[in-house]
Amino acid sequence: MRTDLRRLVVATVLALVVAAPLAAQPDGWTRPFPGHRVIGNLYAVGTYDLAVFLVTSDEGHFLINTGLEDSTALIRENIESLGFRLEDVRVLLQMQAHWDHTAALAEIKEMTGAEMWATAGDAPVLEDGGFSDPHFGGRESFPPVEVDRIIADGEVLELGDARLTVMESPGHTEGSSSYLMTVEENGREYRVAIANMGTINPGKRLVVDPTYPGVADDFAETFRRQKALEVDVWVAAHGGQYGLHDKFERGQAYHPDTFVDPDGFLAAVERLENLYLEQLAEERR
Ligand SMILES: [Zn+2]
Repeated sequence: MRTDLRRLVVATVLALVVAAPLAAQPDGWTRPFPGHRVIGNLYAVGTYDLAVFLVTSDEGHFLINTGLEDSTALIRENIESLGFRLEDVRVLLQMQAHWDHTAALAEIKEMTGAEMWATAGDAPVLEDGGFSDPHFGGRESFPPVEVDRIIADGEVLELGDARLTVMESPGHTEGSSSYLMTVEENGREYRVAIANMGTINPGKRLVVDPTYPGVADDFAETFRRQKALEVDVWVAAHGGQYGLHDKFERGQAYHPDTFVDPDGFLAAVERLENLYLEQLAEERR
């Protein structure tokens, strides 16, 4: 028994040591993952870790985010596996103008003729392919995509019978945004947040030589509003952020309660807010 335990420990440690350099690579960004229904007319059609969402309506669909530049085929496969068509996407949205979420927008726009809608903060970065990104900029990091309409906080986006309310969540990028919707399933109303979380990329500065003016206040306001948000179901831009793989396994049957997790949302926001406060203290030291 003891020997077995020791072997297990050794094997685990070895596995961790071997896996560590790999874990630094974004393997989950490109690894396929089955498309699945989150709740109501909200579907997840992204990769293992890069979340892409399809919000369907009777007059075409919203597509929120893409993955990397070569993610279109995977997204299409996932959409078709759910009985929908990429060609029926009418409106493209995104949550944060970073290449891991935006690199296939231009291609999908070209393929579908969909309009790109974005916040004033992220639109310029989308249009110059990340060149003007205050943190990762100075070079093009994804194919530029033309923005057709500027959307703003509190605005209700309408497409057929689908409705999404824009909730700006700046900090991670200047124009980061979340989208809120209400879904009725089995006679119950669910408040759903497609939430952009306030993560701070390594090297970003908040108050001393800030990455962009006002970034610290943006994060503070985002955390304040997200903590006050009443949420039943939540998802985010990375599967790992919302516990996708703890909540859902390949082949799992649809149930509207699968992603119900109000406490998890609050805990996730508070965890990120604490990291933010630690960094503020660190910079002011
Ligand atoms: Zn990002």
